[in-house]
Formats: sequence, structure tokens, C-alpha cells
Amino acid sequence: MAEELNPFKIAQQQLDEAAEIMQLDKTAHAILREPMETLIVNIPVKMRDGSVKVFQGFRVHYNNARGPMKGGIRFHPQESIDTVKALSAWMTWKTALANIPYGGAKGGVICDTKALNDEELENLSRGYVRAIHDFIGPDIDIPAPDVYTTPQIMAWMMDEYSKLKGRNEFGVITGKPLETWGSEGRGDATAMGGMYVLREAAKYKGIDLKKARIAIQGFGNAGTFAFSIAQKMFGSKVVAISDSKGGIYSEDGLDFEAVQKAKQSTGTVQGYDKAQKITNEQLLELDADILIPAALENQVTGSNADKVKAKILLELANGPVTMEADKILAETGVFDLPDFLVNSGGVIVSYFEWVQNIGGYYWSADEVYAKLDKIITKSFNDVIATQKAYEQKGTKINPRMGAYIIAVDRVAKAMKARGWY
Ligand code: GLU
Repeated sequence: MAEELNPFKIAQQQLDEAAEIMQLDKTAHAILREPMETLIVNIPVKMRDGSVKVFQGFRVHYNNARGPMKGGIRFHPQESIDTVKALSAWMTWKTALANIPYGGAKGGVICDTKALNDEELENLSRGYVRAIHDFIGPDIDIPAPDVYTTPQIMAWMMDEYSKLKGRNEFGVITGKPLETWGSEGRGDATAMGGMYVLREAAKYKGIDLKKARIAIQGFGNAGTFAFSIAQKMFGSKVVAISDSKGGIYSEDGLDFEAVQKAKQSTGTVQGYDKAQKITNEQLLELDADILIPAALENQVTGSNADKVKAKILLELANGPVTMEADKILAETGVFDLPDFLVNSGGVIVSYFEWVQNIGGYYWSADEVYAKLDKIITKSFNDVIATQKAYEQKGTKINPRMGAYIIAVDRVAKAMKARGWY
């Protein structure tokens, strides 16, 4: 992997930059540059033809100074220890910025879920939990869904863990279906949180979202809900959407139901034949007001960042913008809102789910959304206030550095109070 694109190197460079600006204590910086613990496991899985295939999986504990560690599990063919380490660092900053009582962790399995049937997927999910069960727990490390993992997978994992412990442990994992005590509002929480941030960002920049043209990269959980919520909440036009096979564009705006139907029947949004076909690269360079990368990392890089025309770049994916791109976007004046602010709605509602599981008392969807709005709007305002405070001291920083400074400071202060340095 090219150094520019190694996600863990990017995560470390981002931290280094923040550490320098905020003059972070050297020992705190050294602790925060690496994960606390890394677990690599081999998972034997019985396949439909009777053979046994061995899958490699990871779980990384980045930091737990502020509470039990939290973060999703990705099932992806290109998963690697470096992506999982980076994502665990970003989870640490995400929970700290939202100021919820967690540290950061992440998990992943190298696999192609599209090549597995339901039984194989269940065997793999249960096998992963058997391999990592001593490493997780409601007060140790609480996993959740991420790329290509679903509420059903969370239910299997919770069940496997509960069987191993000999009692129900609903609080071991979040993002579960409602039948197994998931939370109302968790399904669309990542997109909903992102839309609350977009509402605040547009207000701040004087952009009328009713007239805005939005391009979304990705049609997974985050991208799909972002598409429907942006239309419903603001009346914006979604002019482009894509999935891993490619994208579609229509100047007049796309119809959500029709695109969803095409995706269901053909397996790709490109099955919708009333729009122009575009590539994922072209989507990033479209003449839209708002660009929402909602798929994987490393999409906006040193080679295409200067072609981004959007006024607001809303990072709904984890790590979609490289460090080199970050600098270019600051120069070209794109208001780039960082991933661990924009997509924190998922983990914030995961936190609500865990609180409900522990308390055994459940909230309505309205209560969940209102609490989410309050937390994420405060995060946005904190980031802008930090940016302004540094600017007054003569140091210009972008929103990502503002968010880093707040998060790193909170984790460092917790480590200091606990006597770690
Ligand atoms: N996978 C999501 C994220 O990257 C949610 C994590 C969680 O709910 O713990 O933020």
C-alpha cells in the first residue's frame, strides 16, 4: 500500500499534527500513537460443500482511558491490520469528541460476504466471537456493525457470547435488531447524525439546503439513509449516488424509491436506467453543493482533491480524505467536515442502546433522535469554537484539527488524571 494511502499512517500523521498545534505532552503523544493491544485470530468455518475454510480476523483496543472501548466490525475482502488500527484510533477520537464514556476499538475479518450464504455467514460471525470473546464484554469492549456487517450479524454475535457466558448479555454488542433489544433509531443513526451536522454547517456557511444539490458516494447503510433523509428533512436534490459497481447522475435529482428498487432487482444502482452512468471517481468531481463520501477510506486524495467543486464535504465514511487531500481542500476553500464528527451518530446511538440494555428501560425513537441531535450539534459547535479560538491566537486550523484538539485533549486529561503519565 502506498504510504499516502496507509490508513494507520494517516491516523498517526493527523495525531502528530494535532499534537504539535496543541503542544501535547510528549509521553501522552507516545501513548496515543499506538494501540494498547492488538488481537489477530484465525477462524475455521464450515462451508456449504463440507470443507473448512480459515478466515483471518482482528480486534484492536486503541485506548480505554475514558471507558470501555467501542467500535464496529467490518467484513471486507481488503481488510488489514492497518485499516483496523486506524479505525480504532478514529473511534477513540470519535467517542471523545462526542463526550460519551467510552474509549476506542475496532474489528475486522478478511472475507467477501457476497460469496457466503447465510449459514456460512452465521458460522463465521459465531466463530469470530468464539475467537475474541475474552477480549470483549459490556464493560471491556463493545462491538457494533460497520461495512458489510448487519443487525442480524450482531444478533448472532450477541447470542454466541451469551451462550459462552451462560446468561443473556445484550449489552455486549450494539446495533442489534429491535427484537433482541436494539435501540429505536439505531438503523439510520449514522446518516441522521450526519444530516444534523449538515444542517448546522449549512446554517454556518449561509447555504440554503432546499436549493442544494447533493452527491453521495456509497449505497450502504450510511449512504442509503443519507439519500432519503436529505430529501425528506431539507427537500434537497440528490443528483448522484453510487455503489461499488459505479454511479448514476441526473441533473433534475434522483427518485429514492426508484433507485432503491433498481438496486434490489439488479444488484447495483446503475440498474436505474433513467439516469446517466458515471464512475465513482467522476462522482467526486461533480458540480454539486454538497459531497458526501459514504463508502470507504482514501477516496479524496492528492490526485483528485483539487477537482472537488462542492462547498461542503461531509465525511460520512471513515477516512475518505487523505492528509495530502486535506491540505489541498483547505487551500481551495472546501468546508471539509471530518469523519469522526460527521459519522458519530452511529456510536452515539450505540451508546444509548448500551445504556438501555444495562438499565433495562427503553426509549422512543423521538427521544433517541432528540438526544442525538443535542450531542452532535454540540460537537459541531465545539469544533467551530476551537477553530475560532486558535485563529484568535494566530493559528489557522481546519475543522479536522479542531476536532482532533478537543478529542486528544480529553483523552490525554483522562490518562493524566489516572496517573498514566
Ligand atoms: N461502526 C460505526 C462507526 O464507525 C459505529 C460504531 C459503534 O456503534 O460502536 O462509528
